[in-house]
Amino acid sequence: MRHRLGHYILVNAMNYEKHLIAGVCGLGGAVAAVAGGLSVQYVIGRRRAERAWAVGDRPRLEDVGSVERLTILPLVDWYTAGDDFVGEPGVSYLVRADDTTILFDLGFNVHGEHPSPLLRNMEALGIEFSDLDAIVISHPHVDHLGGLTYQVRRRFAPSAKPVDLGGVTTYVPSSLSNPTADIIVSGEPRVIAPGVAVTGVIPRQLFLIGWSPEQSLAVNVKGKGIVIIVGCGHPTLQRIIERAEMLFEEPVYGVVGGLHYPVTSSRGEKLEAFGLRYFGTGKWPWDPVGKQEVRDAIAFLSRRDPGLVALSPHDSCDWSVEAFHQAFRAAYQYILVGRDITVTGA
Ligand SMILES: [Zn+2]
Ligand SMILES: [Zn+2]
Repeated sequence: MRHRLGHYILVNAMNYEKHLIAGVCGLGGAVAAVAGGLSVQYVIGRRRAERAWAVGDRPRLEDVGSVERLTILPLVDWYTAGDDFVGEPGVSYLVRADDTTILFDLGFNVHGEHPSPLLRNMEALGIEFSDLDAIVISHPHVDHLGGLTYQVRRRFAPSAKPVDLGGVTTYVPSSLSNPTADIIVSGEPRVIAPGVAVTGVIPRQLFLIGWSPEQSLAVNVKGKGIVIIVGCGHPTLQRIIERAEMLFEEPVYGVVGGLHYPVTSSRGEKLEAFGLRYFGTGKWPWDPVGKQEVRDAIAFLSRRDPGLVALSPHDSCDWSVEAFHQAFRAAYQYILVGRDITVTGA
């Protein structure tokens, strides 16, 4: 009896172990399959993006015009100019180029609220959608088109509940929809208002996140040059500037916006929590953004001797923001919700 019981226990234990091993192997196999699939997708996409860049020379834009005065008013970003505003890890900037008013990106609305941080900050600043001549969406990521639910459904919206955009002309870099906007897919560079152009898409393949077509906004300030307004900066600062130098005769005068330099885990791990160091970089996740890349980008930009540099803290750590601040000193401006950055023509 005792012998039978022992045998019973032994056989059951062996079965359990077999199931356990099979389960672990199954799980391990599934993880390996997913990782393998992501790796293949990444390698293929990266080649496709590199090919697109290699044959991507663009002719100069004609009849761009220029503006006397440019102001960039951050409506959504990490830091604010006061307690009246809400900060969050997304981007939305109001760009006023003489008589043209453009909303660049729609923020993150990370908690899916209505009214969203964008709407609350617009109200605090007395801005309405009817003031806009156009909207430009830099790229189809959560923190730029208004939230995760919209990214999943390839839509964009300024808040969790419907907001009537009044048929405003909206330049998007890829297929995105909103029932109250008049949508133009602007994959190629084009002038959209006097002195104002979209740079056309520069794609990048991001591990896990996938294909990322990103465009920037460029404004020609009379006698100064081109100010580039950037969303996340996935294509890299270097390529964004090189594209602008293809499109315009005037020199690059300034760069304002996100450039994706999350090097240290500042701000209470929040940037880490979003995996910014490992994803969204355009590189393998085990090769995160480092200080040398930031120094290289600063050196590249320094050779243009820019008159305006402002790095968005929404996808860069405080160490990188300070590195840019120290490098560009008088030309540097902090991006704070509610505080205008102004460039006037010479
Ligand atoms: Zn971003
Ligand atoms: Zn992005």
